Amino acid sequence: MKSPQFSMLFTLVLTAFFSFSWATLPHQSFLQCLSLRSNDSSISKLIFTRTNSSYGSVLDSTLWNLRFNSTNTPKPLVIVTPTQISHIQATIHCSRKHGLQTRTRSGGHDYEGLSSIAKVPFIIIDLVHFRSVDVDVENRIAWVQSGASLGELYYRIAEKSTKLAFPAAVFHTIGVGGHISGGGFGLLLRKYGLAADNVLDAQFIDVNGRVLDRKSMGEDLFWAIRGGGGGSFGIVLSWKLSLVPVPANVTVFSVTRVLEQNATEVVHRWQYIARDLPDEVYSTVILRGINSTQDGRKTVLAIFSSLFLGTINELLPLMEQRFPELGLTRQNCTEMSYIQSLMVNNGLPNQPLEILLNWTSRVPIVSPSYKAKSDYVKEPISVTGLNGLFSRLTDETAALTTIVFVAFGGIMDRIPENATPFPHRAEICTRSFMTWVGKKKTTYTPKDTSIGLEVLIVI
Ligand SMILES: Cc1cc2nc3c(=O)[nH]c(=O)nc-3n(C[C@H](O)[C@H](O)[C@H](O)COP(=O)(O)OP(=O)(O)OC[C@H]3O[C@@H](n4cnc5c(N)ncnc54)[C@H](O)[C@@H]3O)c2cc1C
Repeated sequence: MKSPQFSMLFTLVLTAFFSFSWATLPHQSFLQCLSLRSNDSSISKLIFTRTNSSYGSVLDSTLWNLRFNSTNTPKPLVIVTPTQISHIQATIHCSRKHGLQTRTRSGGHDYEGLSSIAKVPFIIIDLVHFRSVDVDVENRIAWVQSGASLGELYYRIAEKSTKLAFPAAVFHTIGVGGHISGGGFGLLLRKYGLAADNVLDAQFIDVNGRVLDRKSMGEDLFWAIRGGGGGSFGIVLSWKLSLVPVPANVTVFSVTRVLEQNATEVVHRWQYIARDLPDEVYSTVILRGINSTQDGRKTVLAIFSSLFLGTINELLPLMEQRFPELGLTRQNCTEMSYIQSLMVNNGLPNQPLEILLNWTSRVPIVSPSYKAKSDYVKEPISVTGLNGLFSRLTDETAALTTIVFVAFGGIMDRIPENATPFPHRAEICTRSFMTWVGKKKTTYTPKDTSIGLEVLIVI
């Protein structure tokens, strides 16, 4: 048994250790370095330490997935929200000098929270003030800063032209910085490829604080930052984008099937058809478990939804010929502008376009706390395989699970596989995916692989 003297000594040692370590915490020296290095007194208003009353709200502002917002989540020592390039350069210099890691945050949508958490002492460089968008309709280009949301980009393009667009994801709160850095795909994937395929130039800060463009960084680095994963090479400040033409009117449709309506067979057939449809067709199937209206038992709802870069009159004969099993009718289809189709796919139909500018509004169809994972597959899943998958979806523990299949193909097959580091352009399959359902972890490994599709699971 320990003596009272020993306990007292132990307490004193602990107290001394903690007071000492707090006084000499690396971020104090970092802060001093930052104020000296930036040579700009205004920077103090852009720095948030844990003692600052705004620290929590700044941290949470784009920490979308509340899974990374628990009391156990590692928090940054400092958040810097630069307004000038020199602030970023000073932050990089001082964090290196004082042995602190940095995390760059644009839209904060990283599936694993990599822009907001780290296992070592770290600093967040939050690009919230780097969000300008300049659209040049005549030359079909745009310069966009990484901290802008995709919604801001889409709004600024639509404001100037309804016949131009940028190929990227539909969710308007995703950040340009992380999205393009990872490849980035959305409604125009089959017609125009990835977001990264449509980048012409970039402004980049490397680990030494040098500001580089495509010419000065060289083609190797320019290749790497377009799909090689955000945060791997440095900080991309802005991107020069090639805008693509879209028709004044496009067609969206949505057809639903449940298991009792042969959903399994139609999904199975879709796998053979979707990736070989004309490039103008973007095609997805969304799957989730619901209660059957017939007997109240669990069933699977399959929502086949598409965007077609053309009219209803062009689409109907095409689908009748290529995919009669779907039974698409005129009533399932609506013509609208491209930007409206984006709103519909975003779960924001009938909302004013200005909502795209609101990067703090949560996407209504995504739960605030989720585990999402993508898998890329290349051989069609057999009916038996689909039945296995669907039986998981009808399980109570998967009540909040959604699976989204997105057909690749189209121009994705024609762009050389090594054009960018995005590794899933061709038919590449990781063959397994894992989901968290509530607190229970389940693993599903398809017996056979599937299709050149992307599978996204949101719980
Ligand atoms: C609801 C939801 C829907 C999605 N839908 C799609 C989809 O349809 N298509 C698709 O392709 N993807 C989709 N994604 C994935 C999304 O594109 C990526 O998670 C993307 O990295 C998010 O970018 P961000 O800037 O919002 O994230 P952040 O969390 O800010 O950044 C992601 C990563 O990039 C790094 N990074 C951020 N900014 C920069 C920068 N300026 N320079 C260098 N590195 C940087 C971060 O450090 C982090 O490692 C979706 C994600 C969510 C949550």
